[in-house]
Amino acid sequence: MELPIVDQPVQAAPPATHFDTGPRSIAAVKVLRISVTDRCNFRCVYCMPEEGVRWLPKDHLLSFEEIATIVKAAIEIHGIRRFKITGGEPTVRHGIVDLVRMLAKIDGVEDLSLTTNGMLLEDLAQPLRESGLHRVTVSVDSLKPDRFRAITRTGDLATVLRGLDRCEDVGFDSLKINCVTMRGTNDDELAEFARLSIDRKLTVRFIEYMPLGDAALLHPDPKASGLTSTSSIESQSPGLNRVASDELGPVGGCGAQDRGADSLIPEAEVRQRIESELGPLIPVDRSSEAGVGPAQVYRLLLGHPRDPRDPRSPRGRIGFISAMSTPFCSTCNRLRLTADGVLRSCLFEGGEVDVRSVVRSIDDPARRHQAIAHAMSECVRLKPDVHSYRGNEQMSRIGG
Ligand code: SAM
Ligand code: SF4
Repeated sequence: MELPIVDQPVQAAPPATHFDTGPRSIAAVKVLRISVTDRCNFRCVYCMPEEGVRWLPKDHLLSFEEIATIVKAAIEIHGIRRFKITGGEPTVRHGIVDLVRMLAKIDGVEDLSLTTNGMLLEDLAQPLRESGLHRVTVSVDSLKPDRFRAITRTGDLATVLRGLDRCEDVGFDSLKINCVTMRGTNDDELAEFARLSIDRKLTVRFIEYMPLGDAALLHPDPKASGLTSTSSIESQSPGLNRVASDELGPVGGCGAQDRGADSLIPEAEVRQRIESELGPLIPVDRSSEAGVGPAQVYRLLLGHPRDPRDPRSPRGRIGFISAMSTPFCSTCNRLRLTADGVLRSCLFEGGEVDVRSVVRSIDDPARRHQAIAHAMSECVRLKPDVHSYRGNEQMSRIGG
């Protein structure tokens, strides 16, 4: 089938022959992460500066209809079936429940999930459930109210935890908690977080802190942080230890997010610290599960047999997302769509394709459909071999 000529991508893709298989083939893409806003009611210290953020102009945001058009093309032409709604904070996008309802009704959407800071969940859990959302992930980086406030700058732990409870009450199962681990910030709470998986049927996922936006430019030496040494890291960050002022990014620069080179706690250390308090972690075999993502998943043994059906086994699981110490680029199965309609091949750096101009410039539905699908194939070919250690955009704009 002939694809229409599209002015994009913004960066030339390598020859197609390299990408017939593997993570740079569109056939490998199973998940589309959709950021629906760059705005947020929190200002997490690792994600956004406290003030001075330059927001996207409203007319650059994809409308709900435009998002649905992209989702339909992803399903019908590329067979993508799993969609994650994220942000910024997706629940602050006006009409989020309507968007969920609209997407959940599309034929072929098999898994629709949302990642949220949880601040508005207490009221939204029920309508989100009723509108067809399948799964929820709530980000919680501390179980201490004062510390939670300090990390999020505006958040209230009790409100978020009530939102989490409400999700359980209204019938969301497969609940997940995302916890970004940061040395000197919340690393004395690792076992407390892991304990949540004992009595509750939820997965606590520890995410390695990632230096994105200009924060990355301030990191002096990736290896000193316990990172895997790869030629890619060395060639991309030779002797990097300072950032020139003209290299700083958008107004309110992301330098404000920098947690310092020592913030990263590699997964191995997190596991070891959990095991020293709570005993062994047992890998969970997920080969028979649909939609397995990048997390390595375990459960606590707690002196009980391996059989997860044993009533004495913990009800929940513990996952690790370790993009820094153990990059999983060779098995990456996702594409990202930013709130302003840019397809990103990688969370860090990599090629981008502007799909908003495609959606807005082609009137004929069939041609538009093909052109969106073409933009996706082009974007996935731009995935780097191994991600860079210098993210070039704020996490809040990409959606994690
Ligand atoms: N606002 C929602 C939330 O916080 O869950 C969704 C968007 S947020 C960008 C998605 C995920 O990215 C969150 O779990 C957040 O903790 C994580 N995140 C943000 N900045 C990060 C960073 N620098 N390193 C690691 N994870 C980060
Ligand atoms: Fe907002 Fe989520 Fe970023 Fe925190 S991590 S500032 S909640 S977008």
